[in-house]
Amino acid sequence: MFTKKTTSLLLGSHLSIQGGLHKAIERAEEIGATAIQIWTKNGRTLKATPLLPEDIDNFKTTLKKSSITQMVVAHASYLINLASSDTHIAANSRAGLLVELERCEQLGIPYLVVHPGAHTGIGEEKGIENIAHNLDKVLEKFQGPTIIALETMAGQGTTLGNTFEQLNMMRNLTTFKNKIGFCFDTCHVNSAGYHLKTSEDFENVISEFDNIIGLNHLKVIHLNDSKTECDSHVDRHENIGKGTIPLKVLKLFVHDPRLVHAPKILETPEQNGHLGYKDEMDLLR
Ligand code: FE
Ligand code: FE
Ligand code: ZN
Repeated sequence: MFTKKTTSLLLGSHLSIQGGLHKAIERAEEIGATAIQIWTKNGRTLKATPLLPEDIDNFKTTLKKSSITQMVVAHASYLINLASSDTHIAANSRAGLLVELERCEQLGIPYLVVHPGAHTGIGEEKGIENIAHNLDKVLEKFQGPTIIALETMAGQGTTLGNTFEQLNMMRNLTTFKNKIGFCFDTCHVNSAGYHLKTSEDFENVISEFDNIIGLNHLKVIHLNDSKTECDSHVDRHENIGKGTIPLKVLKLFVHDPRLVHAPKILETPEQNGHLGYKDEMDLLR
């Protein structure tokens, strides 16, 4: 129901909604994107003022009129921590996630990228259990078509989701499995310790993902170079071609036929505002 036009290459970037949600679509056209990622609200707070009908209309009309093949992805607030055992934090995180899912449904956004959470000392196993439990509690209340895409993480601090096994376990422990997919962030996966230096490394990582999670559950790709080396467990995005992941490997993510279904989103540092993404996309094409 969400995708109307088709394209062979779904490529774009995270874009600002400053000036209104529809502004992100206009920025996407300026850079020739065929897919984009947005915040649907201020990411620094869990609360949100409800979307006005005219904002929703404006967004949908601009999207429909746009020449670009639209695959819109939303990114949820970093403040959501579904791994927490603190009842207050967990309740706020669930409420925050539900609001984000409802906004996606209103806007016709098929995927919501979510950071799984940080266990903050209670241990991996308990953290993963909490994530699955909290996802279930949210999905009991959400019947919309939007799918949650749990993001692969770099493994900074006590952050969970830095191995494919952990991510798979989160999904396996939930009741609403068909509402859970994954977002593969190239920078994070590299920082987490998966080698991405050669085309052979790419093959190994993709087949490992496929064996453990399944490529059919891969919904979004975050295409970022990294400022840090493999296994650094540090999350620092770098512009395409300027970091530790070779351009030829990043290009494999863009052009591999097994990944064609997943929108590919740049989250690299802005250069000349959003216009710099045009050059990075050219490099990748
Ligand atoms: Fe993210
Ligand atoms: Fe990311
Ligand atoms: Zn990151």
